[in-house]
Amino acid sequence: MPETHSRRRAALRSLLQEAELDALLVTDLLNIRYLTGFTGSNAALLVHAGGEEHTVFCTDGRYTTQSSVEVPDLERVMARASDVALAARASGDTAHYGRSGFESQHVNVDQYESLKREFGAVELRRTPGLVEGLRLIKDEQEIDALRCACAAADRALADLIEHGGLRPGRTELEVARDLENRMLEHGSTGKSFDSIVAAGANSAIPHHQPTSAVLATGDLVKLDFGATAGGYHSDMTRMVVLGRPAAWQQEIYELVRRSQAAGSRAVLPGAEVADVDKAAREVIVSAGHGEHFAHGLGHGVGLEVHEAPSLAGTGVGTLSAGMAVTVEPGVYLAGRGGVRIEDTLVVRDAHPELLTLSTKELVVV
Ligand code: ZN
Ligand code: ZN
Repeated sequence: MPETHSRRRAALRSLLQEAELDALLVTDLLNIRYLTGFTGSNAALLVHAGGEEHTVFCTDGRYTTQSSVEVPDLERVMARASDVALAARASGDTAHYGRSGFESQHVNVDQYESLKREFGAVELRRTPGLVEGLRLIKDEQEIDALRCACAAADRALADLIEHGGLRPGRTELEVARDLENRMLEHGSTGKSFDSIVAAGANSAIPHHQPTSAVLATGDLVKLDFGATAGGYHSDMTRMVVLGRPAAWQQEIYELVRRSQAAGSRAVLPGAEVADVDKAAREVIVSAGHGEHFAHGLGHGVGLEVHEAPSLAGTGVGTLSAGMAVTVEPGVYLAGRGGVRIEDTLVVRDAHPELLTLSTKELVVV
């Protein structure tokens, strides 16, 4: 909606004024989507700190019609080299763009050289992460999109189980394709990332890629997958066991479940991200499995499936209401099997809002 995008650009303008910049050249396509709604594959945006009047959007001729629909509220220019065209525009009007920032973390050396040339007399400043900083806190429209994506994944998993999609004799690849098709049937616009389906000993590999390995009775099967809606991603991991679970499987499952609950409870505004990781990790460490949990607790989710903040022992910063994060502890026993349980949550004042609603009981099929 145009009002949403103009509100986001106004928030960015405040940051530009604080940084004493006249403008920001935005070249990252996701940041451009966030600020304008444009979903094409080539664009640049010059946001003026003074207002919308001197804010200019550029894309190329393939997107003339699309951009007139998606970006009706800004001056639009057409050029194949969209970033260079806007840099040239700025250099011709130093009265408005005399000191401009650019997204240095998204620009490679060659691109930087040509931008510097085109910006000419403009004083060019490295300003990484300004739009990403805004994207950390999701508005309700973004949370709705995340909710839709998570719901499609929940329904797909329920369908898969109900229709006997998890059974001995099927391969990991077959299950992954089946799950992805069911997400599409339930309204997903794509897959959030390549689904992880890991059976038996493969479940001990945190990021196992599905293979032609055949599911067998007694296997733990790890399913880590996500749907997309309106450009937003979901991310969820659930475990299924084929046949009666063995005692060791139940034991590590219950351990990870307690850890996941402790981590989720720690997801509160003001919490240090490292402390959230610690809250979940302590449960696993005190059970003697610390070395079997060799990754961070979680990550932000939004226009990217992995974005800030990082919930890890090495992470810095605190959570704020409106952030969307995953909580995904795991215990991996090499050669035997592993368990990870992952939810996508939104940080809210009293307790987080859970978006991935599939049961966290160990599913036995
Ligand atoms: Zn995941
Ligand atoms: Zn994740």
